[in-house]
Amino acid sequence: MARREARPRAEREQVLRPLRRCCLGCWRRMAIRYENRRTVATLDGPVRLRLKVRRCETVGCARYRQPYRPEREGAVALLQHEFGLDVIALVGTLRYREHRSVPEIHRALLERGVAVCERTVTNLLDRYDELVATVVDEPRRAALAAQRRVVLAIDGLQPDVGHEVLWVIRDCPSGQVLLARSLLSAIATDLAGLLREVVAAISVPVAGVVSDGQHSVRCAVREVLPDVPHQLCHFHYLREAALPIFEADRHAKKELKKGVRGIRPIERAVEARDDPEAEAVRGYCAAVRSALTDDGRPPLAASGLRLHARLEAVAASLGRVEERGN
Ligand SMILES: [Zn+2]
Repeated sequence: MARREARPRAEREQVLRPLRRCCLGCWRRMAIRYENRRTVATLDGPVRLRLKVRRCETVGCARYRQPYRPEREGAVALLQHEFGLDVIALVGTLRYREHRSVPEIHRALLERGVAVCERTVTNLLDRYDELVATVVDEPRRAALAAQRRVVLAIDGLQPDVGHEVLWVIRDCPSGQVLLARSLLSAIATDLAGLLREVVAAISVPVAGVVSDGQHSVRCAVREVLPDVPHQLCHFHYLREAALPIFEADRHAKKELKKGVRGIRPIERAVEARDDPEAEAVRGYCAAVRSALTDDGRPPLAASGLRLHARLEAVAASLGRVEERGN
């Protein structure tokens, strides 16, 4: 059935880059060669993914010209899916943990802002069933053997606090899911069990593990794969590290904003004038206005600090004018 309404436009954009830089075949550096784009419907609304893809350019390498996509892509959505893994996890929980019917799940998704039709809910349930039934069978094992090593990504998807967690273990180079299991707990021993299952099923060495660095995941990886490098997702790592700074910065910005209230009355006072002084006043008002709406991109740019710098510049300029005027 054709879609009756246009898919909601993605307001959010996320740029993902592969954390791994060296080729799994020849260990030489892979450059970012192109970008793929896809839009995924998640529980936080539609997101446009800009995916930077690396590629080995070493002639004769077993992975020559094979793309290496960002590890995090598979944590957001399965390959060729327009719905996020978080939506699939929620659908599975609602069905099997809370025994909701398809129309009820449909309503729940609509309430959470996920634009779906009822038939899509049935498809999503099928995807969930397929996902948790994943096994490393013979063809998959052969494909991994040809690839010679795997880079595992471990993600825990918890649609809501208190819900069970859908754990997904993937191979990053191929993008294939190797195991997906719903667990009520997220303790290290359970995760270690899942990890052991995967390691036993594949017949190739694990070159690395990527995760968001949750404590239980770290412990499980250390236990099962003690000598394998474990890379924490840069995004999560940075976000966690920057959280206290982000909070302090937000507070600072709020306080700064209090000091520059009342631009509108000043603008209104010179509205009817077009002399140079009025022009200058309008210019300053515009500068303050644009400083107030110039949001930094956390965690790398603190918007409070930026506002402070811009207001300082405006104040310094006003100071110079005053000096000249006297
Ligand atoms: Zn290579």
